[in-house]
Amino acid sequence: VFEEKHFKYIIVGGGVAAGHAAMEFTRQGLHPGELAIISKEGVAPYERPVLSKSYLFPNEAARLPSFYVCDEDYKKKRLLPQWYVNKGIELILGTEVVKTDLASKTLTVASGRIFRYGTLIIATGSEAIKLTDTGVQGADAKNIFYLREIIDADELVKGMKRKYKGKAVVIGGGVISLEVAAAMRINGFDVSLLYRKPWFMHELFTPAIASFYEKYYSDKGIKLIKGADVVGFETASNGELKTVKLKNGKALQADIVVVGIGGRPLTALFKGQVEEEKGGIKTDGLFRTSVPDVYAVGDVATFPAKRYGDMRRVAQVDHARKSAEQAVKAIKASEDGDFNIEDYDYLPFSNSSYFDLSWCFYGDSVGEPMMFWDKRTTSTTKPKFVTYWYHDGSVVGAFLEGGSAAEERGLAAMVRLRPTVPKDELARKGVSFATAL
Ligand code: FAD
Repeated sequence: VFEEKHFKYIIVGGGVAAGHAAMEFTRQGLHPGELAIISKEGVAPYERPVLSKSYLFPNEAARLPSFYVCDEDYKKKRLLPQWYVNKGIELILGTEVVKTDLASKTLTVASGRIFRYGTLIIATGSEAIKLTDTGVQGADAKNIFYLREIIDADELVKGMKRKYKGKAVVIGGGVISLEVAAAMRINGFDVSLLYRKPWFMHELFTPAIASFYEKYYSDKGIKLIKGADVVGFETASNGELKTVKLKNGKALQADIVVVGIGGRPLTALFKGQVEEEKGGIKTDGLFRTSVPDVYAVGDVATFPAKRYGDMRRVAQVDHARKSAEQAVKAIKASEDGDFNIEDYDYLPFSNSSYFDLSWCFYGDSVGEPMMFWDKRTTSTTKPKFVTYWYHDGSVVGAFLEGGSAAEERGLAAMVRLRPTVPKDELARKGVSFATAL
């Protein structure tokens, strides 16, 4: 029988949100021994987006410790494992929480050990949706990979070594698939990118934005197969993958497959104990759940988006960081009897980079999209363009390819203001409207 261990604060999950919550706790004032982070992963919190980008590169690939969670000014303060030790934060790694009882404030981990908390932060993130879940035939074949955690990335890197420069099929038209397809191409693979929709990044990209990136991908030698529905995989007698079968009867040869068809928030541990909404754990603007002393942050939280008047669940790294900081501020403020803390005001942000391109997006993609190229862009300069989403006389969202860090900050500030501007003025100013603020 294990002795129970008690912590004032426990964070379940040791990803991006957990790391940033720990950092915020130390800013707000934390005593040694007060905080524990229990994580299924065997490593301290790190910046997950690296896994589909430089982690997969053939040269100078990113490896820990270079991408442990770090503060907003990037690289200034990186939270190495020793940082947690120095702060008296207990990192309980390689440990899965298998049962929770929010009424008695206890967590049970796989070994049977029980932890008791005063305040709990749920930061379990998401898991990758698997083709085996949907019963796709042969989906358990060797050399089919998913990407969520560092161990997945390590498996993929090994697979890439085994199948060096072979035929790769990347399934899915979302942000992770695009990044992985680019990384595999850089590694010399013959890459096909398959997606169901008529263009990739269908949720965010307009047809005009998509056509720029799709041409770029084609020019890099990546085959784009649109409207593709994968129905099965054929394997050789040794279990190795041979082909990817499509609904239209076609089959593609494949040595290696990477599937990026979305994520699912990990909320099962709390089912029936806490209110849910839109597939996530429902919170208020301070990330408090329906259960006292229990907070939820990052990918698992469905929170009120103040500026849009609706409830949203956001699986983006920027939100993971900011929601974690907000929750910790709220916890500390409630202990100090300060109830004036402002609700979270989330401005949607996403970004990505492939080859020598990089884009960012802020705001809402509703209304009429208007795209403008930087007039100085030529066939020999780096591409630079903007798309505004124009709604009721205002700019409510903006997308920028090829902007500098300062221009991206300006873009955020502009969208946050939702500026009212006549359409012809916006058209006349083009890119400079985004970058002038
Ligand atoms: P996570 O970072 O996923 O952390 C959750 C942690 O909880 C994990 O360590 C997990 O092992 C642990 N856990 C889960 N269940 C248990 C349990 N029962 N017991 C113990 N531990 C548990 N977003 C962007 O904005 N830009 C990008 O470019 C981008 N790229 C991405 C690339 C990849 C490959 C992936 C997978 C995601 C990417 N994202 C990106 C999304 C972003 O990484 C997530 O939104 C962010 O990591 C969410 O943070 P989180 O802390 O909520 O969850």
